[in-house]
Amino acid sequence: MPVANLIAKLRPPQGLAARAVVFTSGVMLATAVMCVTVVLWGAQRESARYQLELTHDLTLHLATVSGNMIARGNMRALNAAISGALGRDGVRRVYVGDPQNNPLAAGGGSAADIAAVTELSARALAAGHITYVRTSDGGLAVAMPIIRDGQTLGVAARMWDQDAYRFQAIPALAPFLLVLALLALIAIPLTAYAVRRAVAPLAELSKFAEDVAAHGHAPPVDVRTGDEFETLARAFNHMMARLDASMRRIQQIAFVDPATQLPNQDRFIRELDHFILQGKGEMGMVAVFELQRLPRLMQTLDHDAARDFLRVVAERFASATRTVDRIVRLRPQGEQEPVLARLGGMEFAVFSPSIGSPSDAARFAQHLNAALNQPFEWRGHKFTLGACCGVAIAPRDGRDADAALRHARMALGAAQNAAARVKVFTPSLDREAVARLTLEREMREALERNEFRAFFQPKIDLGTGRIGACEALARWVRPDRTIISPGRFIPVAEEGGLIGPLSDAIMREACWKAAAWARAGYPIKVAVNVSALQFRSDRFAENVLRVVQHAGLAPDHLELEITESVVMEDPDRALRVIRPLRDAGVRLAIDDFGCGHSSLAALSKLPFDVIKIDQQFVRAIEHGDPQAEAIVDMILALARTLKLEVVAEGVERRDDVEFFAQRGCHWIQGFLYGAAVSAPEFAELLRRQGGEDVESVDAA
Ligand code: C2E
Ligand code: MG
Ligand code: MG
Repeated sequence: MPVANLIAKLRPPQGLAARAVVFTSGVMLATAVMCVTVVLWGAQRESARYQLELTHDLTLHLATVSGNMIARGNMRALNAAISGALGRDGVRRVYVGDPQNNPLAAGGGSAADIAAVTELSARALAAGHITYVRTSDGGLAVAMPIIRDGQTLGVAARMWDQDAYRFQAIPALAPFLLVLALLALIAIPLTAYAVRRAVAPLAELSKFAEDVAAHGHAPPVDVRTGDEFETLARAFNHMMARLDASMRRIQQIAFVDPATQLPNQDRFIRELDHFILQGKGEMGMVAVFELQRLPRLMQTLDHDAARDFLRVVAERFASATRTVDRIVRLRPQGEQEPVLARLGGMEFAVFSPSIGSPSDAARFAQHLNAALNQPFEWRGHKFTLGACCGVAIAPRDGRDADAALRHARMALGAAQNAAARVKVFTPSLDREAVARLTLEREMREALERNEFRAFFQPKIDLGTGRIGACEALARWVRPDRTIISPGRFIPVAEEGGLIGPLSDAIMREACWKAAAWARAGYPIKVAVNVSALQFRSDRFAENVLRVVQHAGLAPDHLELEITESVVMEDPDRALRVIRPLRDAGVRLAIDDFGCGHSSLAALSKLPFDVIKIDQQFVRAIEHGDPQAEAIVDMILALARTLKLEVVAEGVERRDDVEFFAQRGCHWIQGFLYGAAVSAPEFAELLRRQGGEDVESVDAA
């Protein structure tokens, strides 16, 4: 391991460290070279000066000695002195001449040396002082006049080799230079190492920054250099901690539902996508639950109470999921837990891996749905939330989370009418959904072209036997004159959000037509159906009253038919909604009475004017069902007590008219007296009835 560390340390430095090492090594090397150059140059200069000084001294000495000998006329001694001088190291030529520069004694030197020395001697004689010259081959010649007592006795000159009396700098300084080179050799790696060590924290900091950039996180950096690096590392760590906290907060906001602390839709989709993309060939169950009464309940609670209630719902959801998961799924050890989520407003979802068969998935969802449908006891109240559930199997029913969830929601749409209010997705649902979407698109266009019209079905007043009222029923009259019944388009309009404009159109037409008939002398009441969604709108009463006013219809000529189930969903709210209508004089009818689960107590408190007995009782009576007769009797008795008028609808046989007439029923509506017809046809009916009237009056 230490060897590996060492090798790692020997690795060439990179980046800033490498540049620092190269720079400092370069500076060191340059300094060393400069030192050597300066030393060598200095030595060279000094040695030249020394050579010149010494050669001048030696020439002076020769001039003095030669002067003595010339003065004494001792030419032999002069020649001996010159031979002696020639024997010295580096001396090339020695020359002594008379004042006219004729040689007195001379020796050594090449022809060029002789010429150079002779010429220099002449210059010295002419100048009267010491003179020197460096020849082209590097020789140094010095000449000096021999002067005694102011009289020139001659000239003395010498010539040396270039290197004579020179200081040999390189050999002399070699050990010193060697030591310098060695020091530089050692100092460069040492400096490199020191520089590397000094900038090492920078490498650590930049690696930290790179990790954060690449992966969004990195372990804290530990730098204790006591300098700016440590400050920087502390700042980095602090920044990272804050970034982590912010990220956690963002994750929380992005992926957790704040009210229930369950994962939200985005998180659910991620988990589901992860499972599907793993592609292990396993199937998992995606179940979407809708708690239909939840939004209404939420509307009645303040913010904190609503949150608290949601938390209770989420707890029930989680504990029920755990229980059901244990029962239905024989989960191998370590297998992924189910994922629960709140997808939005009233939608919750479970994803449970390794439930591949539709029957297991249905069983799981049914158990869970049943648990969610148990009443919630909260703050002394009991609530049932009306859960239903759509199930899809992933990836069988969706190659990605969006598709699987869409299909589960599609199944949820069909779950209302399914057993236990749970439906598992099948491809036919998809086809239905496509057909629905097409229908929805066509309906939007039809609304713009005003193809939704009110048709009117007469209601016969059993007291007079005449058409005293009618029910406006929506019809879609296609451009090819084919007529589509509301059974097909009302549910689609409710789902696609078109029910508002559609109902408004019918309501407007019904009110305008009834007002026109009243003006024409046929004051009959018109009943208009109210859908569940319309009734939930807070501005419902306001809208109705505006239409009535615009049309100029007497409010008591309008009757609103609200189905029993819609009223009983929330009787208190129903009362609040209908009160202003009732106060304005609008009549109110409970449609399809007998199908829902009316609480008699609630019914007695609601200010209705009319009960419409559902067609199913009329059908049952036709089949001689004694129970149906008993129920109809009860309804009529109830109506009498509450002073309500009763309409029997769907009457097709004269016998049934008898039946209802005998029991005190007020109104009959049914194909026996005519199906719903267009406004002009209905006006014609009224006119004809008016005509008969005149006739009967005439007869009387
Ligand atoms: P509903 O209010 O109970 O209307 C009575 C339905 O029974 C009408 O069907 C009518 O044509 C039918 N009917 C009347 N007499 C007889 C009979 O003797 N025998 C049989 N078998 N049926 C008879 P329609 O027009 O198809 O309407 C069905 C439902 O659609 C209505 O039931 C009502 O709930 C809804 N609806 C119709 N028009 C509108 C509307 O303008 N707005 C809203 N929100 N709902 C509407
Ligand atoms: Mg009706
Ligand atoms: Mg009805």
